[in-house]
Amino acid sequence: MYSPPIARLIEEFEKMPGVGRKSAVRMAFYIMSLSEGQAKNFADAILDMKKSIHLCELCQDFTDSARCPICSNPKRDSSVICVVETPKDVTAMEKTREFNGLYHVLHGVMSPIDGLGPDDIKIKELTERVVKYNVQEVIMALSPRAEGDTTALYIAKLLAPFNVRVTRIARGIPIGGDLDYVDEVTLAKALEGRQNIL
Ligand code: ZN
Repeated sequence: MYSPPIARLIEEFEKMPGVGRKSAVRMAFYIMSLSEGQAKNFADAILDMKKSIHLCELCQDFTDSARCPICSNPKRDSSVICVVETPKDVTAMEKTREFNGLYHVLHGVMSPIDGLGPDDIKIKELTERVVKYNVQEVIMALSPRAEGDTTALYIAKLLAPFNVRVTRIARGIPIGGDLDYVDEVTLAKALEGRQNIL
């Protein structure tokens, strides 16, 4: 129906989260309406971002320097680490303004159905941090799905030999919901009501 170059661009847009066929077609036609210079700016923005953004050496969040602004802020409490699934969840937690520790982004949760085990997410990096930086508490703030619970329990057992408190934020977050869909007050309360996992 569309010539191959247009179809290819539509396909690329369709891979984006939340973008259906209709929106993908609309975006492709928008790009076609641009001048060559404008289209190049768009393409360069994507490539520049990919070249300059990498994972923070401590928390594994996306950053353009060795350490992200949160990890390099001396006012943050480095004895507490809040473990989240995605970089989006860091933003959600930051909005509560209730957490002054550091984060650790797992980039997913363990999910046997999807073939994702402990080595496929950033668990090793977390245990290394806990040991190396004398961390006192690890707060699991994973979404309340079975995979999140399994991952939290796995990490709690892994950290059991070390002198660290492992907690989980309280329920009250809708089952199956993502942290960034929860309002700040609910999330702040869940953080306040956290409990030991083991
Ligand atoms: Zn960081």
